[in-house]
Amino acid sequence: MSEDKRPEWTNQDEPDKFSTYIRKGVETTPQEGLVKNRTFRKKKVADEITCEQLAEGILNGDRTMLARSITLIESNAEHHFQKAQTLLQQLLPNTGKAIRIGITGVPGAGKSTFIEAFGMFLCNLGLKVAVLAVDPSSSRSGGSILGDKTRMEQLSRNPRAFIRPSPSAGKLGGVHRKTRETMLLCEAFGFDVILIETVGVGQSEVIVRDMVDFFMLIVLTGAGDELQGMKKGIMELADAIVVNKADGENKTSALKTKKEYNQILHFLQPATKGWETKAYTCSALMEEGVKEIWDVINDFQSTTEQSGVFADRRRLQTIEWMKSMIIDQLQNSFFHNPAIREMLPMVENQVISGNKTVTSAVEELFEQFYKSLT
Ligand code: GDP
Repeated sequence: MSEDKRPEWTNQDEPDKFSTYIRKGVETTPQEGLVKNRTFRKKKVADEITCEQLAEGILNGDRTMLARSITLIESNAEHHFQKAQTLLQQLLPNTGKAIRIGITGVPGAGKSTFIEAFGMFLCNLGLKVAVLAVDPSSSRSGGSILGDKTRMEQLSRNPRAFIRPSPSAGKLGGVHRKTRETMLLCEAFGFDVILIETVGVGQSEVIVRDMVDFFMLIVLTGAGDELQGMKKGIMELADAIVVNKADGENKTSALKTKKEYNQILHFLQPATKGWETKAYTCSALMEEGVKEIWDVINDFQSTTEQSGVFADRRRLQTIEWMKSMIIDQLQNSFFHNPAIREMLPMVENQVISGNKTVTSAVEELFEQFYKSLT
């Protein structure tokens, strides 16, 4: 207390008239102080709470505990990884009860508008909805296609809804694990519907397809030539194609587009055994056609549950998930192996300069890798 000072602007002759004092601070540069303090505080919060407390919080519907648990899963620190796995292990019996729905479409197709309308519709039915995202852009560039805009304003304020932006750090494989595990946390928390959104620009659709029960492609009118192109691959992943923006002047062409999609779908392999993928129209903006899509999803669930396809798919997804994690782990341990790290630049040079074939280079590297393990 002896270090405390009164501000210079107070009257030094009347000490009792002021109650404000300046306390002596810690000596450091402003930037250093900020970073150090922040890291310290974050670490403390994450490490302070036990797995049991987090699990109990989640099962009791405590959102703060849910958010903290997701942060744990998203962390790249090794000790957080272990803790997150222990937590998931505890929660595993409470997972699996939600319907998992994937939503994709090119930027501008209306995904967030649709999720807002659809999410609100579900909340009004009394259901609890979690929205997660797999954003391929964030894993590559650090930026984000999905997260930049102010999205789903109404839904984000609804107490029955929970929106979590895409985990941004790491490779797509890592994002995949984090999203899947976040989905399990959300299920343990008691969400009835999990919506997983992704941008329709490549690999991420396949990743999302592999973690959901029902996969929906949102498209725009005037499919025309696009239908011949890359969308065909995505179309074969979809359980429903939703032609959005079927309102105003666009309504007639939306209906025409729906017809065109249905014609093409007729010749494609369905994404789910025993289920016919069809095209539908909707206006996310006017909230039209949203209920019909929920009916389709319910129909899908009861049909596939009866046939056993629903449970089969989930089992297969879990096995595939395990395999993809094995591949990730192998890749990691190979490229982080000290012997490989030392040898790799040299071998790369030999391959580039034409002194060694790729096959023999790979063989040599693996020989070295196996040797280092013994
Ligand atoms: P996202 O990039 O796929 O998430 O697309 P957004 O939801 O951000 O929508 C892109 C634009 O399309 C926005 O300006 C929306 O207001 C608009 N939009 C979305 N759905 C509809 C719709 O059903 N009808 C009309 N007319 N516009 C829509």
